[in-house]
Amino acid sequence: MSLEIIQYPDQRLKQVATPVEVFDEALQGFVAELEQTMRAGPGGVGIAAPQVGYFQRIVIIDVSGMRKLPKKSSNSGRMVLINPEITKWGGMAMGREGCMSVPDFTGNVIRAETVSFTAFDEFGEAHEYRSEGYEARAVQHEVDHLDGLLFLDRLVSRRTDLFQRKVYQGQGKD
Ligand SMILES: [Zn+2]
Repeated sequence: MSLEIIQYPDQRLKQVATPVEVFDEALQGFVAELEQTMRAGPGGVGIAAPQVGYFQRIVIIDVSGMRKLPKKSSNSGRMVLINPEITKWGGMAMGREGCMSVPDFTGNVIRAETVSFTAFDEFGEAHEYRSEGYEARAVQHEVDHLDGLLFLDRLVSRRTDLFQRKVYQGQGKD
């Protein structure tokens, strides 16, 4: 069953999510529902719990299904990131982003090219990751959701960096 996606300008998208403290079956069940919701969306490569109105620090990313993963992008497959912390940022790149909570627009956003980060999985196991390229962009985009930020908040200029989606062309939407 897919959960309902909260859409901009719903003010709940600005809420800061709180850390997960209990890793139990209820959490694992929620992660499964969140993942189904991500995979049901067109081109969904990432989702954050606040997008479905659940304000805990939970993110899922999987760029492996992207038809055209941009060059130099890592592909770690399915990552469930609970209480993620980005610990290192490297380089900077401009890239186009979309979001299931902002279905009608894409935007150009400057992000780090590489990020190192730590997170727990849904069973409470700690992991360390490093991502590059599009995957690193997805991580930064989703972690932003946990802090109440959308890609719209990162545009240098709404006039030049925001684009109306005309036809869905299979770009990544996260
Ligand atoms: Zn998003």
